[in-house]
Amino acid sequence: MTEARTEPDFIRSLWHDTARPDAPHTSLAEDITADVAIVGGGYAGLSTALHLAEAGVRTVVVEAGQVGAGGSGLNGGQVNPGMKYDPDEIEAAHDAPTARRLVHFAGGLAQRTFELIERHGIDCETRRGGFVQPAHSPATLDKLRSRAEQWAQRGAPARILDAGEMRDLLGSDHYMGGWIDGRGGTLHPLKFVRGLARAAEAQGARIYETSPATGVARAGGDWVVSTPRGQIRAPRLAIMTNAYADGLWPRLARSFVPVHSFQIATAPLPADVLDTVVPEGHGVSDMRRLLVYYRRGPGGRLLIGGRGTLRPPKSAADFDALAHVLRRLFPQIGDAAITHRWYGRVAITTDAKPRLYILGDGAIALAGCNGRGVAMFAAMGEEIAQWLRSGRDDDLPLAPQRRIGTIPFHGLNRLYVAGASAWYRMRDWMD
Ligand SMILES: Cc1cc2nc3c(=O)[nH]c(=O)nc-3n(C[C@H](O)[C@H](O)[C@H](O)COP(=O)(O)OP(=O)(O)OC[C@H]3O[C@@H](n4cnc5c(N)ncnc54)[C@H](O)[C@@H]3O)c2cc1C
Repeated sequence: MTEARTEPDFIRSLWHDTARPDAPHTSLAEDITADVAIVGGGYAGLSTALHLAEAGVRTVVVEAGQVGAGGSGLNGGQVNPGMKYDPDEIEAAHDAPTARRLVHFAGGLAQRTFELIERHGIDCETRRGGFVQPAHSPATLDKLRSRAEQWAQRGAPARILDAGEMRDLLGSDHYMGGWIDGRGGTLHPLKFVRGLARAAEAQGARIYETSPATGVARAGGDWVVSTPRGQIRAPRLAIMTNAYADGLWPRLARSFVPVHSFQIATAPLPADVLDTVVPEGHGVSDMRRLLVYYRRGPGGRLLIGGRGTLRPPKSAADFDALAHVLRRLFPQIGDAAITHRWYGRVAITTDAKPRLYILGDGAIALAGCNGRGVAMFAAMGEEIAQWLRSGRDDDLPLAPQRRIGTIPFHGLNRLYVAGASAWYRMRDWMD
């Protein structure tokens, strides 16, 4: 069932086409009080709300658009275990207790997400087949071998794959091998975020849509969050707007570079072709500097995503490069039609790590998913809920920062990203 959205005609999200629309939430139209006010209705904001509400904390979420309007309703639905850094790198960069906590957090992300979904009976097409990273060059193969070994040494169901095994697993001749991490999987991202909203409400959280927070101020020891037609007054606050951060807390939006990730989906593939592409339904993400990620999707389709233009797409032609990569990886799909094209924003930080910021007394923000937030930001929500209750920084998996470091010459950085993307594209091609 298709839902009305205000995008140009050539934008059509597979997730919105394959999820039943939820009854809309009303917008905030009065002044209310709560224990915690949350800005942003994605995985991070709603998971925080759910865990707070479960603990009996009066929680209100305001979302500028609809639940899942940001990355959470638009992403690739890959439930990736781990962070961008390998366990050895994490251990080399932190003291032993911090490293232990971080590796444990990273290693448990996928399982935690699947358990959360199960516990709340969220119907979002989960598939726990594993996460695959194929290598396109000898250097990346070495890196992935080491990654698999590091995780296997720590008890994860991780395995190195040779070129033949990779070909069988993906149905593509393109790779030299890689690894599989049995902890990962896939889900329907929009159904997941809507399910989180329903679960949070069932526990007593209140959610308001079309309610952009336009200002945050302190008043008598409380935080006051203003929206066009009403305010929330609460002693604690979480700003969970990730790549969609606007002028609400200006330094936040300048702490990362927003980049568009584009996705396309084919028409349903004939059964004999479908049997040959990612036949076991894994989530896959390659190792190129400008990586592509792909998987099967609802209705026997093949989906692929990757870095798009810095500006929003202007026409269907802006997605042609992705279609070209898809047909090169999987020539067996022939001229299968591309029926869906859509995009969302990811927040890139200088070191590819997410950031937790303490904004003031009882106030916290999360940003910088670096394209990995399905499992990580849902799990962060639980940790942030704990911090909002206890106020103890030790409850957080990452050390929070009390000053938001902004990226110098932020506007120019977008040009830098464009230049770097062209350079990376050339180096990927040379590999
Ligand atoms: C195309 C794409 C593909 C991706 N694929 C994957 C993947 O396969 N696996 C993976 O792990 N990660 C993936 N990601 C990343 C993942 O989607 C994000 O990390 C995750 O959704 C972030 O969740 P969030 O709740 O922090 O932010 P979001 O879901 O972006 O939510 C932020 C919300 O804040 C709202 N907002 C902003 N300002 C205000 C305001 N002033 N007042 C009220 N509300 C406001 C926005 O409307 C938005 O809904 C992908 C991202 C994109 C864009």
